[in-house]
Amino acid sequence: MARYTGSVCRLCRREGIKLYLKGSRCETAKCAIEKRAYPPGQHGQGRKKFSEYGIQLREKQKVKRIYGILEKQFRNYFFSADRKKGVTGENLLQNLELRMDNVVFRMGLASSRSTARQLVRHGHFTVNGKKMDIPSYALGLGDTIAMNPNKVKKAPVNNAIENIKGKTLPDWLSFSADSKQGIVQALPAREHVTMPIEEQLIVELYSR
Ligand code: SF4
Repeated sequence: MARYTGSVCRLCRREGIKLYLKGSRCETAKCAIEKRAYPPGQHGQGRKKFSEYGIQLREKQKVKRIYGILEKQFRNYFFSADRKKGVTGENLLQNLELRMDNVVFRMGLASSRSTARQLVRHGHFTVNGKKMDIPSYALGLGDTIAMNPNKVKKAPVNNAIENIKGKTLPDWLSFSADSKQGIVQALPAREHVTMPIEEQLIVELYSR
């Protein structure tokens, strides 16, 4: 399946909540959810009643869209979470939070996960001293993310460092604008996921 290239605001309208896919625009009155808080399409304003399956499906789609993941990859994340010890839903969210593009976003180095993904793809970061350009790369406890020294003069990286100033990071991450590096100082726990997600519905969907 090809990557979705249509309007991302339609995705928010479909899920009925802000998914924050467009960076700073999401905080403004231009946000499509502020203007048209109903699903897109000809029948978007019709009465919608979801079945139990429909509710579970929407929850899964919402999480996929938040993290910018396609179906097959998301399914792999789920089954890997299911094989791990602990609560499957929480394992799933932890795996998603530890993606390289998400960590770059959560450190405040990009205004959205899609921008973070692009910065990673273009080789702007290193992990533990080695260039890392795979957005889905799974980071672990103690991993250090730094600016790629070869790219440090390029504008997006400098803008990213400017963006960090004054931002409060989640307490499982740290970033120093002086040394231009950040650390995964703890594994993300359930309470660190700030988006409204009911992961149990996803577990129920895949358990059908
Ligand atoms: Fe979603 Fe952001 Fe578009 Fe608003 S502006 S609909 S939050 S992507």
